[in-house]
Amino acid sequence: MLKVVHDPRHLVHDTSALTIHGQPFFEVPARAEILRTALAESGWCSLVGPEAHGRGPLEAVHTPEYLDFLASIFEAGAPFRHTLGAAPVLGDTFAPPGTRFRSSHPWAQLGRFTFDIEVPFYPGTWVAVSASVECALTAADLVLGGERAAYALCRPPGHHALSARAGGYCYLNNAAIVARFLQQRHGGMRVAILDIDFHHGNGTQEIFYSDPGVLYASLHADPDGEYPFHWGGADERGEGAGLGANLNVPLPAGTDDARYLEALDDTLASIREYAPIFLIVSAGFDIGVGDPSVLTGDFKISPEGFSAIGRRVRALDLPTVIVQEGGYRLETLAANATAFLSAFR
Ligand SMILES: [Zn+2]
Repeated sequence: MLKVVHDPRHLVHDTSALTIHGQPFFEVPARAEILRTALAESGWCSLVGPEAHGRGPLEAVHTPEYLDFLASIFEAGAPFRHTLGAAPVLGDTFAPPGTRFRSSHPWAQLGRFTFDIEVPFYPGTWVAVSASVECALTAADLVLGGERAAYALCRPPGHHALSARAGGYCYLNNAAIVARFLQQRHGGMRVAILDIDFHHGNGTQEIFYSDPGVLYASLHADPDGEYPFHWGGADERGEGAGLGANLNVPLPAGTDDARYLEALDDTLASIREYAPIFLIVSAGFDIGVGDPSVLTGDFKISPEGFSAIGRRVRALDLPTVIVQEGGYRLETLAANATAFLSAFR
């Protein structure tokens, strides 16, 4: 049985009525509900709730000021919303690097602690974000306790979140927090993060960019034509002591199962060579054919492709924490997720 950590409190981050630039917001509660239902009915998953871990593991990745911001910005910003009612608090005045004045106004805080308009704050956002990271940390506990793999059904996702900025549907970087948590429990041993989401995990990359103790390896859409645009080139290999511990594999629009698996095999060989004692998988199912979050051209990964990806990652034979990231095509989300996860049953 694969242990699945899930928390219904994600529902209070209710983005289902939101539109941005006239487009529906893709990161909606139905995603996690579809995944939970499919896994509960699979016959090979057992669903468990998360345990509380407090603020300590979060502070190993995020700054105290940023955590305070996440916890308080809805209340602080609500009186200044352009539209009242169900509308979220949302940034629109971003602070470029090098600015000098630190306004205390909620709009200024949004501009300082977010990097795009894809991170709405609702009354329940902090509750859902906190529950999401508790799912990830509880999955890490399960693996530390002897499970070969555990899956955290995180919502909201995390891999775009920087140490002090939210963006791209992400508030806390769940995978990065798990990496630090596992390291602390194991005396700073090496950990690898494999990111298979369609989008580059810019937050995870930046958090560990100069850290030789965490290998960040990502297969993703070429950022020349896809979000997050400002990160994700193949020449971003880490810096200082971390040089060589960041591996980006940008892939072209239209990448199919065969092309993807070839790139995955090379990436898994690099992970083997790095010899980590834990693996974290940032699992995004938006590499599936027809994902609506895609801007230039989707990947064409089929359910059989997801199944093959799962088997190859499993064959690394490492204790593995799987953390849910993206995946927005509701019609195929369950089939793709169960195809990938069934390798870890
Ligand atoms: Zn994604």
